Amino acid sequence: MPTAAEIADALELVQSFVDESHLIKNLHQCRDCGQLYFHVWFELLDWDDGDDRMYDFYIPVTTKAEIDRLKGVMPPPQSIELLECRPRLQVGPGAEASCAESEADG
Ligand SMILES: [Zn+2]
Repeated sequence: MPTAAEIADALELVQSFVDESHLIKNLHQCRDCGQLYFHVWFELLDWDDGDDRMYDFYIPVTTKAEIDRLKGVMPPPQSIELLECRPRLQVGPGAEASCAESEADG
């Protein structure tokens, strides 16, 4: 898996939708292959031991409809819809990067 820094390096900001203290939503594009990723950064406050947990989700998108839909999706705990987006690249908690594969791919 790529590290969080490698993901950030590989992607370029295309458009910003939301930029708030606990929620960022924007669109990134892969510098290599041009794949668009809808990026959501959010923070879960007072989770478990009280540490703030920060997450970055990168969800590959192709159509404007997909982008528009994701613009309206709230992050957890308001909605678990983002957790159901597969495949996705995920960074967090901490700097740990992981990949949630699509159901079909196993
Ligand atoms: Zn790429």
